[in-house]
Amino acid sequence: MMSFSQNCIVLEERIRKLAKACRRDPSSVRLMAVSKTQPPEKIEEALAGGQRLFGENRVQGAGAHWQAVRTRYPDLELHLIGPLQTNKAREAVGRFDVIETVDRPALVDALAHEMEKQQRNLPCFIQVNTGKEPQKSGVFPEDLKNLLRYCCSKNLRITGLMCIPPQDEPAAIHFALLQKLAARHSLPELSMGMSADFEKAIPLGATILRVGTALFGERA
Ligand SMILES: *Cc1c(COP(=O)(O)O)cnc(C)c1O
Repeated sequence: MMSFSQNCIVLEERIRKLAKACRRDPSSVRLMAVSKTQPPEKIEEALAGGQRLFGENRVQGAGAHWQAVRTRYPDLELHLIGPLQTNKAREAVGRFDVIETVDRPALVDALAHEMEKQQRNLPCFIQVNTGKEPQKSGVFPEDLKNLLRYCCSKNLRITGLMCIPPQDEPAAIHFALLQKLAARHSLPELSMGMSADFEKAIPLGATILRVGTALFGERA
């Protein structure tokens, strides 16, 4: 089995080549290490190797360990990439640097309220349910415009879009849709592409690739 650092070198080289091939600046494509369920020693290895951008899918996943990491690595950037309940908004705003999963007005209200209270003006992404899957979070594409308007009215700063394509459909269709929506609303960040499909996300404008198993190995 390869170490995090070895996987990281291989992946970054692959990303650099693909970015160049589609005439993108390689530094505009960032590799996020999705560390959910990984033991602290794996995260330490990643940090020691220079990784600073991480994603956790649960608020509880960003507890004491990450707060301790932050004091040692002030340039840490931790994103919430999983669904957020309004009653966890306080912890989420306190623990994360970017919330990628804004998807409904009630959550906008809760986040705006907490950011005001904690004086933390975090950038957020809206999660789009591009496949309109009932079990998945995210706003439907046709409702994005209204949600963006609502965020604006609450001074919630939206800088990008995020999606998780359906398992059984070609991911590229969904990445292309997300790219089109971001362009329409002049949003610079696109969080899309995971271990299995990140290569397809690069030509379609991904700025953040959310990669777990291809970096850390299989989750426990
Ligand atoms: C787990 C997860 C990932 C990473 O998945 P891998 O297939 O392990 O790369 C990316 N995005 C979200 C939202 C996740 O929950």
